[in-house]
Parts: sequence; structure tokens; C-alpha cells
Amino acid sequence: MVQWYNGIAQLTIPTPFVVGDVHVYVIKEEKLTLVDTGPKTKEAWLSLEGQLKELGIAPEDIKQIVLTHHHPDHAGLIDRFDQAVVLGAAETNRFLVREDAFMEMHDTFYETSFKEIGVPEAYFVLIEKMREPLQALGQRGLDKTVAPHDFVPGAREWKVIETPGHAQGHISLFRERDGLLIGGDMLLAKVSSNPLIEPPFSPQEERPIPQLQYNESLKKLLDLPISSVLPGHGPVVENAHTLIHQRLKKQHERACYVKQLLIEKEATAFELCVALFPSVYRKQLGLTLSETMAQIDYLLSIGEIEQVDLIGDAVVYRALANTKE
Ligand SMILES: [Zn+2]
Repeated sequence: MVQWYNGIAQLTIPTPFVVGDVHVYVIKEEKLTLVDTGPKTKEAWLSLEGQLKELGIAPEDIKQIVLTHHHPDHAGLIDRFDQAVVLGAAETNRFLVREDAFMEMHDTFYETSFKEIGVPEAYFVLIEKMREPLQALGQRGLDKTVAPHDFVPGAREWKVIETPGHAQGHISLFRERDGLLIGGDMLLAKVSSNPLIEPPFSPQEERPIPQLQYNESLKKLLDLPISSVLPGHGPVVENAHTLIHQRLKKQHERACYVKQLLIEKEATAFELCVALFPSVYRKQLGLTLSETMAQIDYLLSIGEIEQVDLIGDAVVYRALANTKE
């Protein structure tokens, strides 16, 4: 169903993923622009095509697509728009193109990470499975990259805001004149965005720390006079700044709980993950490990815990005495 927000059309597309429907947006400026596409499924395509038709738009009328990030619920249908120029952040391209060298690094990276996290060998088969969401993407890469503070070519009211954390190449689009932000998965009303562990840009680099990036991105949004956020999922966010403060506070509280667990007993990230998500960690290992590492990374960054030891390749963490008391 098409909804309008200050001249921007919001289209809602079904996905086969747990997250449910995804929103994509049509901007009618100098160039007819689609922000995100929905997943690569027949249902999604029929739904997108139908809603574009309601707007009097044929798929071939779309001149450009801006991707907020590379995840399959957002970027799956780019193949359907041959004539459109695909734009996104440079970091997004490697996931879209999936060159052999990148996929090799991808697997090696998760193998090393699993070992450091202390994941039992029996779960290593899941690394292969991590490729699956990437296979649900299209077969083409970006045609053009956009950099922070750029205005979207052909939709020049919209400024690119770099908002990494949920995905490395995550961007949002901001329109100064009315404070509208097209936010991708940066800020969702009903759920907190998961800061996902992703490989570094090159094998020599350290892995990015998504929770810290995400918090920085949230703080960046506090500096913008946002009226509403048009999100990738769920209802429009009307009170962005209040929600951002809540999200930051909640995340700090979650981290404090993890520190409590470490005060009781030193542990590996995997042991913490099992303690935090006893009923879902098996089914959703990637997500729950990312969520656990997020709290560990945050606690390390504020000096509340430290790495003590290795058991095999697995890192063991310990809570530090609270110096402020
Ligand atoms: Zn999403």
C-alpha cells in the first residue's frame, strides 16, 4: 500500500525474513529515484510493480536506485531495473559484487571470529550458511558511489548521511527543508537495530566495531533537526531524538547486565551469548553473537571489562572493579 509523507511515496513490500515487511521510497525530483528495492522474491517484485503502477510509474521509468545498505531485504531487486543507475556507499559494493577474493576473506574472517568467540566446532557449518543471505542479492554492483555530505545526484534536496553500524556501508538521506530522514535500518520505532559483525575492508585491517559505530551514528542524528524518520521497517518515527536517547540508554543497561554476568564469572563471548539468549542462540546464532559482541566491545571501550586469557583460541573476558566508587 502506498502512503505519502511530504511528497515522498512509501511503498510496503513483503519479505520472507523474520523482520517482516520492508519499506521502499519513491522520490520524484529531477530523476525518478527509488530508495531500496525489497527482497529478491516473486511476491516482492509483484508487490513493488503493482504499487509503482498505482503511482503511474512503470519499472523502466525509475532512473536511479539509492541503497541505504546491502542487506537482501533492501537490495534484492536491483537486477530488475536494468536502465537505472544504482548508487550507494562504497562499502556496500563488495557485498553486491561478491568477488571470489572477498568471499574467501568473508569465510576466513568468520572462522577466525568464531574461534575467538569460543563457538564450538559443531556450529562452524553455519559459516557456509552465512553466505545464503548474500546469495539472495542481485547480480550487479553499484554504478556510482555516494560519499558523506554529497547531495544525491538527480534528487538534490537529499543529503547523504553516513550512518554505519547495522551495516558497514549504511547511509541515510536527509532533507534539510523539512527535516525528513529516510533512515534505512538506522532507527526503527519498534526494535533496536542489530549492530552486525562484518569483515573489515581489507584482510590487514582490524574488524570494524559496529556497536561503537552505531552509537556514533545515533549521536550524529542528534545533531540534525529531524522531523520524522521514514524507516526501512515499521511505523514512521516522529520523535527521533527522544527515541535515540532511549536506545542509547537501553544499550548501556544491556551492557551493564553483561558486566554483571562477568562479575559472577569470567566467560567467553559464546558462553555469554548462551546465558543471554538461552532459547534462541541455536536458531539465530549470527544475530545473537553480534548482539553479545556488541556489548563486549562497548564494555571494553569504556574500560569496564578486559580480556584475560585464551582457552585455545577463545578470548576470555573479566569484569574490572568499578573505579568510580
Ligand atoms: Zn532491513
